[in-house]
Amino acid sequence: MKYTKYILVFVLLISLFFGTIPQKSVKKTEYMLDTVISITAYGKNAKKAVDEAFNEIKRLDNLLNAFSPESEISKINQNASNGFVSVNPEVYHLIKYAVGLSNSTFGAFDITLKPVSDLWGFNTENAHVPKTSEIEAALKKTGTENLEFDDNSSAIRFKLPEMAIDLGAIAKGYASSRAAQTLKINGVENAILDLGGNICTIGKRPLAFFEGIANGGFYKPFKIGIQNPTGARGESIHTITAEEDICVITSGSYERYFEENGKRYHHIIDPKTGRPSENGINSATIVSKEGALGDALSTATFVLGKDGIEKITPLCDLVIIIDSENKIFEYRKD
Ligand code: AMP
Ligand code: MG
Repeated sequence: MKYTKYILVFVLLISLFFGTIPQKSVKKTEYMLDTVISITAYGKNAKKAVDEAFNEIKRLDNLLNAFSPESEISKINQNASNGFVSVNPEVYHLIKYAVGLSNSTFGAFDITLKPVSDLWGFNTENAHVPKTSEIEAALKKTGTENLEFDDNSSAIRFKLPEMAIDLGAIAKGYASSRAAQTLKINGVENAILDLGGNICTIGKRPLAFFEGIANGGFYKPFKIGIQNPTGARGESIHTITAEEDICVITSGSYERYFEENGKRYHHIIDPKTGRPSENGINSATIVSKEGALGDALSTATFVLGKDGIEKITPLCDLVIIIDSENKIFEYRKD
């Protein structure tokens, strides 16, 4: 006991020398936005902050989920063919942002593809290859130019009957940045969020005490693994080191698919053909500061493939493509 005081002073001095005293972590995992979400946050306010971040994701899930009949998106899909539908302003702005990204990606990212993806039935018991005539008919109900906006009343109208929108390719990324913001507002300085492969980081990873001493500092940048498209879930093929707050967002052919007559059909549709895109790539990852941007661009890159990369690199920090032979290609902003 008589040495306790000295030990405490020693620990304090070492901590002051190397950084701060290691922080407690809180990890919580839940199923929302049709995916497994897990948040790890550090520091004394972490528990409350993580709960608030999940509340924020739940709020967005309720607004944005096209498969939930109560969501704002369903409200639009059910009524916007009959005239303008006023929606929650946040949802309205996200939809307009998505349409802007559709233009910047030359239509590769397209939230109006729902009539086509519903035909394929990904993630339902009725997943199958539709008839060509059905695809052609469904494609006629798409196109962001057929959305009409009224900024004064945050209202949206479909110019064509039976149109429908789906924010599935941008919602998780948007939610990841919103959840990260919620953690920050609640005092969290270090955290990592994983929304079904949409990963965002805040600050650095605090190390355990002895790990910190061995490291010469109590923090290390988070390392984010990129899923091996042909490996087991959680097996990385490549790693990104988060030197600053970033989002790393991947679209992959392994995420959702079905097989028919020995051929695999994945869930990302090429708006030009109405069929799963075929560009010889297994996944596309975007590194950006903003989740919604990264999410939309990862889907667009997956559609465009390596040949369309010059359309994407001006819009984000880094693009990583894993091709069909699992070769890794990195492209940076000029
Ligand atoms: P992600 O995993 O972010 O690439 O999003 C894929 C989801 O977005 C799909 O499950 C569809 O709901 C929808 N989607 C499919 N193709 C596209 C596309 N070309 N543009 C926008 N959304 C799409
Ligand atoms: Mg996406």
